[in-house]
Amino acid sequence: MMTRLARYVILLSLPVVVGGCAMQKDNVKEGGDKMRNIKLSSAFFGEEEARAVERVLAGQVVNMGKEVFMFEQELEEFFGNLNAKVTCVHSCTAALQLALQACDIKPGDEVLVPTFTFVATFQAVAANGAIPIPCDVDIEDGFIDLKDAESRITKKTKAIIPVLFAGCDSKIKKVYELAKKYNLKVIEDAAHSFGDENIAKRDGIFCFSFDPIKNISCGDGGCILTQQKEVTERLKDMRLLGVIGDTECRFSGKRSWGADVQEKGWRLHMNNIAAAIGREQLKKFDRIKKARQRNAKLYKQHLSNIKEIQLMPINTDTAVPHIFPIIVNNGKRDCLKQYLADKGIETGVQYKPNHLLTFFSKGYNLPKAEELYSKILSIPIHPFVTESEIYYIIENIKQYFK
Ligand SMILES: *Cc1c(COP(=O)(O)O)cnc(C)c1O
Repeated sequence: MMTRLARYVILLSLPVVVGGCAMQKDNVKEGGDKMRNIKLSSAFFGEEEARAVERVLAGQVVNMGKEVFMFEQELEEFFGNLNAKVTCVHSCTAALQLALQACDIKPGDEVLVPTFTFVATFQAVAANGAIPIPCDVDIEDGFIDLKDAESRITKKTKAIIPVLFAGCDSKIKKVYELAKKYNLKVIEDAAHSFGDENIAKRDGIFCFSFDPIKNISCGDGGCILTQQKEVTERLKDMRLLGVIGDTECRFSGKRSWGADVQEKGWRLHMNNIAAAIGREQLKKFDRIKKARQRNAKLYKQHLSNIKEIQLMPINTDTAVPHIFPIIVNNGKRDCLKQYLADKGIETGVQYKPNHLLTFFSKGYNLPKAEELYSKILSIPIHPFVTESEIYYIIENIKQYFK
């Protein structure tokens, strides 16, 4: 028979179970693990950006002008394709919205979109009065499932927006083949792909994000990169209320009183403050790139032989990963998330599939995207995460699966 004391000791040493997850009762270890506070994402700002903002404010010209002009030129050089032009706008959402309009996507048109993306992609379609058609994705990389996409094509389908989820683009050629077959426009949501060496080599329309946590940030910002001249021409006016020639006027310090307007336009341009921040970010991109690629490589090296998790096929030589999602099998995602949170490691679930949102639901299920949603977990990769913190995260993931 067990003594009362023995029973008490056994009870005490059982793990506490919270929401089905076994929690370590005492997570304050030697070395003070509890003190860790590793954020999932962060901007990478310093003194340089602060000085740039001061410089613009002191000049009293904060609207779209010289800084935006310079930033566009510097971005064009950065992308390295002499034929491709950059148009800076207020966000990647704005970039997608304007690119769709520049491709003549009209109210009632249907646009194929992978359901597994940030809601911004869907809202950009809706902003045009067009209908985003949610498509399933492949589990291994979150890329649009092209069979599923093809099965959803109707007479109204006019465009497809592949999302380069976590920078994975190995199936992008197939998107262009499908688009050719059905005469669809292609607009790439490249919000996760800034700095990817392969991007500018393609003839396409690419939308980038410079929002607070992306590879470079303007506070808020975004741009469209394309070699398609007609598209760039329309974008340059459309971002500034459709006033013809206003961009050139402002870049030469003038205003365009009395110019004509020939289509619907918006105030979705970038301002000088945002551009000045972006220019500083571009100067330090090498550091950002090295840190993100190093972090991703360490994860790949040390996490790839844990059998419960699967890594996405991110090319860490050419891509500059914005997020690092892992796929957690055997229903253990939520418990791993809690375990890491207890160790001071913030993680995220990107993204809730859009067909599960009331506004974008079409009444059908997309089983692979839903499965991925139940398994995926983003772990910290931003440039402020140090090498020793990456090892700390790796050790804790290993510990969890031990
Ligand atoms: C961040 C993001 C966007 C939107 O970018 P904003 O600049 O915030 O508008 C669009 N698509 C994806 C996949 C994103 O991650």
